[in-house]
Amino acid sequence: MRAADISGDLSRILVTEEEITAKLDEIAAQVAADYEGKDLLLVGVLKGAVMVMADFARALPVLAPMDWMAVSSYGAGTRSSGVVQIRKDLDTDLHDKHVLIVEDIIDSGLTLSWLLENFASRGAASVEVFALLRKPEAAKVHVDCRYVGFDIPTEFVVGYGLDYAEQYRNLRDVAILAPHVYS
Ligand code: 5GP
Ligand code: MG
Ligand code: MG
Repeated sequence: MRAADISGDLSRILVTEEEITAKLDEIAAQVAADYEGKDLLLVGVLKGAVMVMADFARALPVLAPMDWMAVSSYGAGTRSSGVVQIRKDLDTDLHDKHVLIVEDIIDSGLTLSWLLENFASRGAASVEVFALLRKPEAAKVHVDCRYVGFDIPTEFVVGYGLDYAEQYRNLRDVAILAPHVYS
């Protein structure tokens, strides 16, 4: 499908590419200052975090290695269940590393709280989270998210790495998916 043909699938654009770029610069400067002198490791959660990781890592004014993890959170449709299975594990030994998890979005927070516990049990010196997007529901579970790009309403969004049925990831902006697409 051509990008020009999908505008009917989107209710509205929520965060533009320009807004994302500006926010990543701001958070990257903050992270560089907070982690000065520390052994920082960026961990991206596949596949949604691919775009934010690529842009955020390059916005950082310091060197930082990155690693990737793929998990599936079982659940039907547009909700996650919190039952997490590792599909691709990290290549890096986390012992004494200061881990910053880079995530696309926190909704229920179930996936992240599982990851935080899992990484802590591997001997990481610290584990923090940067989520580009956060939904209100995330406040209900206790997930300490140190860096947040944008608080967004409880809507199903796509673009900038976020998919619906593997589609829409390569849109440059974050947009609300029109309900007629999935209902
Ligand atoms: P949680 O475990 O916090 O409920 O959800 C985590 C994962 O669910 C996210 O990393 C993302 O893959 C998916 N997710 C949650 N909300 C949305 C959304 O609005 N749009 C898309 N495309 N994925 C979402
Ligand atoms: Mg994700
Ligand atoms: Mg998805």
